[in-house]
Amino acid sequence: MSMETTAWTQLQSVMNAEQKRRPLARATLRRIGEFARPHRHRIARFVALGVVTALLAVATPVLAGQVVDAIVSGRDEGTVVRLALLIALIAVAEAALGVLGRRLSATLGEGLILDLRTAVFDHVQRMPVAFFTRTRTGALVSRLNNDVIGAQRAFSNTLSGVVSNLVTLVLTLAVMLTLSWQVTLLALVLLPVFVIPARRMGSRMAGMQREAAALNAAMGTRMTERFSAPGATLIKLFGRPEQESEEFALRARRVRDIGVRTAMAQSLFITALTLVSALALALVYGLGGWFALRGTLDPGAVVALALLLTRLYAPLTALAGARVEVMSALVSFERVFEVLDLEPLIKEQPHARSVPDGPVPVEFENVRFGYPSADKVSLASLEEVASLDTRGGAEVLHGISFRAEPGQTVALVGSSGAGKSTVAQLLPRLYDVDEGAVRVGGVDVRDLSAESLRGTVGMVTQDGHLFHDTVRANLLLARPTATEEEVWDALRRSRLDALVRSLPDGLDTVVGERGYRLSGGERQRMTIARLLLARQRVVILDEATAHLDNTSEAAVQEALTEALEGRTAVVIAHRLSTVRTADLILVVEAGRIVERGTHEELLAAGGRYAQLYRTQFTQRSDGEITEITEIGSAA
Ligand code: ADP
Repeated sequence: MSMETTAWTQLQSVMNAEQKRRPLARATLRRIGEFARPHRHRIARFVALGVVTALLAVATPVLAGQVVDAIVSGRDEGTVVRLALLIALIAVAEAALGVLGRRLSATLGEGLILDLRTAVFDHVQRMPVAFFTRTRTGALVSRLNNDVIGAQRAFSNTLSGVVSNLVTLVLTLAVMLTLSWQVTLLALVLLPVFVIPARRMGSRMAGMQREAAALNAAMGTRMTERFSAPGATLIKLFGRPEQESEEFALRARRVRDIGVRTAMAQSLFITALTLVSALALALVYGLGGWFALRGTLDPGAVVALALLLTRLYAPLTALAGARVEVMSALVSFERVFEVLDLEPLIKEQPHARSVPDGPVPVEFENVRFGYPSADKVSLASLEEVASLDTRGGAEVLHGISFRAEPGQTVALVGSSGAGKSTVAQLLPRLYDVDEGAVRVGGVDVRDLSAESLRGTVGMVTQDGHLFHDTVRANLLLARPTATEEEVWDALRRSRLDALVRSLPDGLDTVVGERGYRLSGGERQRMTIARLLLARQRVVILDEATAHLDNTSEAAVQEALTEALEGRTAVVIAHRLSTVRTADLILVVEAGRIVERGTHEELLAAGGRYAQLYRTQFTQRSDGEITEITEIGSAA
């Protein structure tokens, strides 16, 4: 291939890339406009300020030219002093307007950050659990921080840069042309040298910007993951610190490289532009001086032209830079909009209903379900993978039907991986079924309002999560309006009151990952206390598989008995005591209910349940029945 054709194909590919980006950028611009609309009055004031500033900027060189002419023509000192005073006044006005403009752009920018942040937060909060199980928290937080700030910075810089510079440019050019069109036109010959590389640089810098943002986020997620308490523990126990450091250094080095490349590209660009403007200045002095000596131009006009020229290339440089700013703004906005555009898989119906009052039955009718594929719930850039898995999840539940009457306890037993947790997750609508229906109080959960469903169905997980906050705040999450008395009542009923009383600050003790460490049993009871406060009528309970010590176990058991009292319950059962007292036992295997009945009925039938019973439970010497392993924990 000849050199010419190589260059040609390169140009072609650059043009194609530009074309491909354009419609996307236009849609992005429209949406930025939507976000800017509430701030339009402030923007208008800002633009007006820009125009006044530009007018003042052009006035000074013209006045300076008049000073020179006054000196050359030997006029009275009064004129010179008056002109100098005017120049001083303009300088003061420029300074004052500068401060005012900065203030306006700051309030504008921060306002925009606020709007974008709250929009992303609100949206992310509505995402299904599936989204959070796939997304890397660090990447998501980076969207809320870095990209939102990047978008704002570029937005206000663009606004302040483009508006006042454009006005300055037009005004300066107009004044220059009236002073001497010949000198002006010659000085402008160098203009294309400005514009062409600026256009090219714009898209290159945008590319680098995008890469840098991704690399920074990658580095950030690595840190948040490795420095979380469980992550750090895992590395201490199993990890190879040298390799970890090496991998981190690799990511950090990439960040450094892109930083250096961006800085170099920027400085090259700026240097070239500065050089061009210096050359143009030489041209004005030479040509203007020539005309002045010949008497076709006033000496004052030469000075005014030279001063104006420096003011011409400054906004030009800024405008060329503004293109880069606009590009990076678009990139940041696109990254934010990408998150906002992700449709939540689980949405409330426009006319969602509430669960009817009174006792609530729970019903699964021929439910089939497979976990949604990654591309439906998440973003490749938030998972840090090149492309998302589009394979639809294999069906996990193959036609589950059962009914729990109001106040009844249904126990789910079966090997691990059988689908018990999946059944439990469908009830509070963490996922939607593919076929069949899940009903609470006779209403399909898809027709219920999220608020009503939340208020009706509660869940106690094996390892109740606690936020890094006070005991009180963690409990009030369930019912913010609960009184102090109700909180203590819930603590007493979940056998936690003595513990909380013994804590250094009682209810105000900070618990959670980095606060006071509660034991597994205590955490679970805390979740039960939460449930008691929330007073939900349906309870899903994932019993702890881990061995709690005897006192803990007994306390949890007592608390649970209280919690399940009078409530409809679905329990993923690992304890014989729960299974035995259940109104209905469902044996789940490979996504199907293979047996159902009471403990006695199923034992008598001598099927899968009887087998599980024998492998799971053994008679201890003291006659007490205890579990030895999780039911069928083979998997
Ligand atoms: P159990 O609670 O009975 O141990 P699960 O309901 O957790 O079983 O799992 C049932 C099946 O669903 C398993 O094959 C498991 O690998 C799969 N599974 C569980 N959670 C997910 C998920 N978030 N995404 C995809 N598959 C999952």
